[in-house]
This record gives sequence, C-alpha cells and structure tokens, in this order.
Amino acid sequence: MRYNKKAMEKIKTAIIGGGASGLICAAHLQTKNKRIVLFEKLDRVGKKLSATGNGQGNVSNRGVTDTPYFSFDERGAEFARRILQKYDSQSLVDFLRSLGGLCLTDERGRVYPASRQASSLTDLLRREVSARGVDVRLSSVVQGIEKREQGFLLTVLSAGEEKKYWAENVLLCAGGKAAKNFGTDGGGYRLAGGLGHTLTPLYPSLVQLKTDTRWTKSLKGIRAQDCVVRVYVKQEEILSLQGDVIFTEYGVSGDAIFRLSAYIADKIERGEVCLVLDLAPTVTEPDLRAFLEEKKDKYGKEELLCGVVNNQIGRAILRRAEEEKQAVSLVVKRFALPVTGSLGFDYAQVTKGGIPLAEIEPTLQSKKAKGLYFAGEILDVDGPCGGFNLQWAYASARIVADELNQK
Ligand SMILES: Cc1cc2nc3c(=O)[nH]c(=O)nc-3n(C[C@H](O)[C@H](O)[C@H](O)COP(=O)(O)OP(=O)(O)OC[C@H]3O[C@@H](n4cnc5c(N)ncnc54)[C@H](O)[C@@H]3O)c2cc1C
Repeated sequence: MRYNKKAMEKIKTAIIGGGASGLICAAHLQTKNKRIVLFEKLDRVGKKLSATGNGQGNVSNRGVTDTPYFSFDERGAEFARRILQKYDSQSLVDFLRSLGGLCLTDERGRVYPASRQASSLTDLLRREVSARGVDVRLSSVVQGIEKREQGFLLTVLSAGEEKKYWAENVLLCAGGKAAKNFGTDGGGYRLAGGLGHTLTPLYPSLVQLKTDTRWTKSLKGIRAQDCVVRVYVKQEEILSLQGDVIFTEYGVSGDAIFRLSAYIADKIERGEVCLVLDLAPTVTEPDLRAFLEEKKDKYGKEELLCGVVNNQIGRAILRRAEEEKQAVSLVVKRFALPVTGSLGFDYAQVTKGGIPLAEIEPTLQSKKAKGLYFAGEILDVDGPCGGFNLQWAYASARIVADELNQK
C-alpha cells in the first residue's frame, strides 16, 4: 500500500504505552526541537500505576540491587542487575523528589510515596511530561508498526479513525499480559512480533493460587496470620517465607502467596508444586506434640487446638489428622496443599517472560530493528513482590531515555 508521506505527522520518538515506563521515559526526554508523542490506548495515563500497592504505590525496594530478577535467559539476572545498579532505588527516590514528591521506606525495605497514594505518582509524572511538551494522545491504540527505510510507520486508531505517523524512533513499553483491565492484554507482543521479535513462554506471576481444597473448603475467608509457608517443587524445598495466607474457595491468597508465586509461576502447570504451611511457627513440633498430649488429658479432643490456631482452622486440622491418621501436631506444622493452578493473567499483577533478552542490546535497543527500544514489563524480566517491578520499569525507561537523548 502507498501512503501520502507529506500528509502524515512526523515524530522524532513515539512512545507506545502511557504506563509506568512510558511516563518515566517521557519525563526524562529532551524535547527541544524534537517532537515526542506518547500514545496511550486508555482514556487516562498511568491507570495501573495509580492502582499499585493496594493504591499506596509500592514504587521500589531498597533491596533491589541484592535481589536477583527472573528471566528465561540464563544471563538475564545479570542483564537486569546492571541496569538496576545504574538506576537504583535511591535514584528513583531522588527523581521523585525532583518532581516534588517525598518517599518513605517501611520495615521490609518497601518504598512508597510519603502520601501513600499511588495516584500521586501518576500526578507527578503527568505534570512533568506535560511541562516537557510531550504530546500525549489518549484513547489512541497503536495497531501496527512497520519498519521502513524512512523510519517506523505507525497505524493508530483514535476516536474511530485510523491515522498514520512516521517515527524515527519507537519505544515499545505496552506492558505484558497481566491485568488486562489496565490496558495490558498482550497486544504489545504482537506489535514486537511484526518487527521480527519472538516471545518466551508467558506465565502469570504475583497471583493467587489454586490448591487442592479438600481440607480448606470450610475455611473460605479465614486468614492464617504470619504462618510460615515452605514451597516444594518436585518434593524439594526451594523457598520458605512468613506472612499471611487467606483461604479462598479456589485455594489460597494473601501476602505470603503473592510473594511466593513469583518463584513458581512457570512450574505450576507441571503439577510439581506443593505448599506446606506451618500454622504455629512459634513452637517446634516436639514441643507442640508434648503440649497437646498434656492438653488432651485435661480437655476434650474437640478443644485440642483452641488457643493454638484459629478455631476454624483447628477444626479442619483435626478432621485431616483423623482421616490421614497423622499426629495433630504434625498436621499443624506441615499442612500440605498441592498447587493445581493459578487464577491466571486477569488476576495476576505481573507477566513472567516476554521479549527475549537475546534480541535486545544492553541499551535496550532492538537487535532486529534499529531505532526500536523496549522498557518495562514487555521484556523477559520480572521481579518478586515488593516494589521490584516498578523499579524495573523505572530503570529500564531511564536507560532508554539516555539513549534517545543522544539522538
Ligand atoms: C493491581 C496491580 C498492583 C501492582 N502493584 C505493584 C506494586 O505495588 N509495586 C510494583 O513494583 N509493581 C506493582 N505492579 C506491577 C507494575 O504495575 C507493573 O510491572 C508496571 O506497571 C509495568 O510497567 P510498564 O510501563 O511496563 O507497563 P504498564 O504500566 O502496564 O503500562 C503499559 C501501558 O501501555 C498501554 N498500551 C498497551 N497496548 C497499547 C497500544 N497498542 N497502544 C497504546 N497503548 C497501549 C496500556 O494501556 C498501559 O497503560 C502491580 C500491578 C497490578 C496490576
């Protein structure tokens, strides 16, 4: 097809996606004599950013440079670390301060805006992007990108009308496939695919888990507070952490589950994962056994776990111990829940997998199409729960901004 080149708008850099990384990159671009356009398919920028951290915006973590990120590329963690070292947690805090926002760090190293309002992060960024003169086009879906000799030809659908743009550079930061209600339905991968990129397998991460509910059906809505969860893959313990577990009709949710899901997201489908809950972590199994032996003589069996664990959880444990012919103390300390699945991408916060790092330069420029850059979740890099994913969006967007500012 032939296009009238003159009638088309020319852009120095097109940013596709007005999420965390798109806004952060735009907020660092020099715009003097350069036309920068940011296309966002929703009617507002930063909708997901405004919902992060339960609305409080857990924007970073002080442990970023000591915590390995996940990638299907064996050199992926090192690739990410180099970028995160250049633009670390303090750099993000300093940047927000330069925009007029203060941050605070909690006891787990999680960094939040002092306002405890994720939407204030979006407000700060939106204001800076606008002050820089970046042209933000809302409700504009980039439907296609073609690489031509003159640059990139973008097809954008806006208000029912299809428009074409020429862009010298493109930053594709359209996110992953998790939480499609925030505009991220995996469409960014398709755009990258049209430019010669492939895709690793994709898995929902930071997500609630489906488990065998035989023993927990009656516990819907009950929270096991601060229990220890051990994660077994093929019967080998790979991780243990402490936090809240909430029993649901499909399995388990809660802070501990979200955190551990990042480590097993790609293993769940194979049916190899089992969670083992320690529902009384402050006491050892032999001590608990002796304590319960003594208690059994004084009180009825029904009352055995009263005052030890939540009453409803206690009843489920007693039923299980009886049916499985196990000591009650063992069931309390090793309450096994085989994982059967997850709630999937619609409920997940993050996508594990993405554009393979082997197809990307350390500058985050594409090896397939010169002038094409990537940032954020679209890449095959994901972090654990606790501010690591927004930090990745920040650091990767800054690397790209550095590159674009030299052009
Ligand atoms: C509910 C929730 C809570 C979270 N909480 C935290 C947290 O507290 N801390 C943390 O570190 N991480 C958190 N995350 C994860 C974090 O928000 C993401 O990893 C991060 O936003 C990714 O940034 P991004 O710029 O790559 O993509 P996104 O922020 O997802 O932005 C991508 C944007 O691209 C737009 N887009 C997509 N396709 C097109 C197209 N074709 N044309 C135009 N625009 C397009 C989308 O509408 C979207 O606005 C949370 C995620 C969710 C869903």
